[in-house]
Amino acid sequence: MRISNCLSTRWKLCAVRNFTVVVLRGAVHEKLSERSGPTPADLAGHHRSGCIHRCDSRCDRSAEGHSLCEHEGCGVSNLTIRASAFGGFFDCAYRFEGTYLLGMKNAAGVRTLLGSATHSGTAAFDAAHLRGEDITPDDAAGVFVDALRNPEYDVDVAGDDLSLKEAERIGLTLTAKYCTEIAPQFQYTAVEMTLTPLEIDCGGGVTITLTGTMDRARAAETDAGTIIPDVKTGSKVVSNGVANIKARSAQTGTYQLMYEHTMKEPTAGAQIIALGTSSKTPVAVSPVFDARRVLVGNEQTPGLIQLAADMFRAGTFPPNPSSVLCSKRYCARWSRCIYRED
Ligand code: SF4
Repeated sequence: MRISNCLSTRWKLCAVRNFTVVVLRGAVHEKLSERSGPTPADLAGHHRSGCIHRCDSRCDRSAEGHSLCEHEGCGVSNLTIRASAFGGFFDCAYRFEGTYLLGMKNAAGVRTLLGSATHSGTAAFDAAHLRGEDITPDDAAGVFVDALRNPEYDVDVAGDDLSLKEAERIGLTLTAKYCTEIAPQFQYTAVEMTLTPLEIDCGGGVTITLTGTMDRARAAETDAGTIIPDVKTGSKVVSNGVANIKARSAQTGTYQLMYEHTMKEPTAGAQIIALGTSSKTPVAVSPVFDARRVLVGNEQTPGLIQLAADMFRAGTFPPNPSSVLCSKRYCARWSRCIYRED
């Protein structure tokens, strides 16, 4: 799928050959590619969007600081983003820029480790079933414990209000609940599926290519068609026994679109499988919902992909201090961010 370089905000989506393309509707369209060259705004976006000629991968200057490129012929930026990271752009674009474009990093905490280890155990269980192999919940628990005790990245074990011992208790309970109560509800067809790269032309020489795997999401068959269940862990993913789907559409919608792009077939929706990491380990499955519409919009309202393309082209990455991840633990830009409110 390719988004044309149209400045109009009036877009229409149509289905062609079983996958989505964007076509233009409206009276006035200007093609950025037909301009004589990139504007300062284009260059600002270009530099802040991953130009290899920027001064320093850790650079955190304002857009104006990058608006003039000294590199002859430098006017094209092709930025590759993992599909699993794209949802974070819509949560706090300023954090996204810091992490993925400027290379800022934080050591993970025990809560992050608990989430990724729980995912390893549940994914091993589902993947073995898909291959037709025997696997028990105890086997999945073993994968979880191994991932928890042998992380593949730096972990700050003192930085969270959760000990490794308590994390292990919670994760073992969640893994058992997933394998015995949740997985049997689904007929999975793919786990950690590799996705065909999806190119988004933002105009002005800025291109985003979404790539990678579906990470914690699966594909599952239902009577209505293929759905994308996404496994979420966290202390607030279940509220009053209900899986929380608020602010989940950007990520699950990205997976819906990329699944359609990869398989050349439509999806029937997305679903959240919520594994609560609070001490009571609540679990819940949301109803199926249409996350794709948030990404593609409709005739009256632009979707998130169009808004993202506009923002990347302009080099605009607004902060969101209301994000649930706006904290020292989860944001690598926190110490230098003037927008946070704590
Ligand atoms: S500290 Fe908050 S507002 Fe600032 S970049 Fe991080 S998440 Fe965004």
